Amino acid sequence: MSALGSQFDLALCDLDGVAFHGQNPIPSAVTGIAAAREAGLPFVFVTNNASRTPGQVADHLSGLGVPTPPEQIMTSAMAAAYLCAKRYERGTLVLVVGGDGLREALTNEDMRLTESAADRPDVVVQGLAKDVGWAQLSEAVLAINAGAEHIATNLDSTLPTERGFEIGNGSLVAAVVNATGITPTSTGKPEPEIFLATAAKHGASAPVVIGDRLNTDIAGGVAAKLPTVHVLTGVSDARDVVLAAPHERPTYQLLDLTELTEPYEAAEVAADGRATCGDASAKVTGGRLTVGDDQVLADGVAVDRYTYRALVAAAWHAADAGESIEAPIFTVTS
Ligand SMILES: [Mg+2]
Repeated sequence: MSALGSQFDLALCDLDGVAFHGQNPIPSAVTGIAAAREAGLPFVFVTNNASRTPGQVADHLSGLGVPTPPEQIMTSAMAAAYLCAKRYERGTLVLVVGGDGLREALTNEDMRLTESAADRPDVVVQGLAKDVGWAQLSEAVLAINAGAEHIATNLDSTLPTERGFEIGNGSLVAAVVNATGITPTSTGKPEPEIFLATAAKHGASAPVVIGDRLNTDIAGGVAAKLPTVHVLTGVSDARDVVLAAPHERPTYQLLDLTELTEPYEAAEVAADGRATCGDASAKVTGGRLTVGDDQVLADGVAVDRYTYRALVAAAWHAADAGESIEAPIFTVTS
């Protein structure tokens, strides 16, 4: 069996929770990405953050042990600019609400920029910048009400920071939508556009989406009809994966990125609902997860990766058959 990563020609990889943790490196990501690249899998890092330029994101990533040039970064600002270029001619006038990253992305796609609705822009592109206020939002509303299309880089309602959750782009977009009543197109995750744009831009024919969050990375990958890899180094944990709704289910369930260069053993489910993966097996009995000889999975227990995949497959099978499942919190250790 060949390595999991060798099936793909481009990894569309999330940043926070996958490649690093905020200001801290993830050691398994540093070694896993290096090994996968060495084995011939190129990476593009895909982020909903539209306020930073690819150069700034690349510097941050490189400083945390994953050396990456700006060309291997895709921001939701770039995806929005890519969408503009696909829908409109070069030189189209765009009213931009946002930061340097968004301005640079739109200029790179040969769009002309304005900040005034009086210039009659064809499009309003809105991304997060911390100095956006009433005046810019009002210009956006005036332009949209005059017929401009509204494109948002992403609809994240909050922005996680060291201090807690601050206002994300989605909340500022909501202010505009509240005044216009017109729903914007969003290019960020969990919409599929950012992944489709990245694959197209890099000429990939067999890309894979890699992420830690089921409701953004994995949901976006599923919406783009691409295979998805989930890692347990970030937000969504093993229990979340077991209980995932069909549109948020990752194709491959890994602990971390070092498994990209290993063969992937998938779980199989028999007609009676018993799932097996390697020597491990699992089943849902009376709504409860069991492993091996119908031993109920206890709260706080640690399992290996094969048992984890068997549990996931058994739970999804049971959920699809209409069973409601009680799942304890558990960890995957090896
Ligand atoms: Mg993440």
